[in-house]
Amino acid sequence: PVVGDIMSKRVITVEQTESFIDAAKLMKQNGRNHISVVSNDKLVGIITSWDISKAVAEGKTDTVEACMTRDVITCTPDETADVVAKRLAEFQISAIPVIDDNQKVLGMLTSDHISKLFTRGK
Ligand code: SAM
Repeated sequence: PVVGDIMSKRVITVEQTESFIDAAKLMKQNGRNHISVVSNDKLVGIITSWDISKAVAEGKTDTVEACMTRDVITCTPDETADVVAKRLAEFQISAIPVIDDNQKVLGMLTSDHISKLFTRGK
């Protein structure tokens, strides 16, 4: 299968200028651990529950921008699941934003989506 067939298509994003508390609320409301960070409709970062835990532990009360990872590993919807699964393993990450040629976020693929491929039809 290709990424576009198995990713979460419900796009949830946060702006980099928002507070990390807003990102935490989005995670809780939507049952997600990873949120794409956008500016002008383009991907500029990723923020995860780990990043927020770290910010809280360090006593930071700051913006998403201060806690996010800027060098985002991404994929496109036409890539195959096995190619992207290897990318997750290589970079030791569990989620990867799916983007188009204009850096617009189309979805999110997580290691849960990959795991489910192995239990289909069982
Ligand atoms: N593998 C670790 C674990 O099992 O707990 C955590 C994953 S990773 C090293 C944690 C960092 O990766 C976080 O700071 C997060 O922002 C970043 N991260 C997650 N997904 C990413 C992606 N697609 N591209 C770049 N960084 C990412």
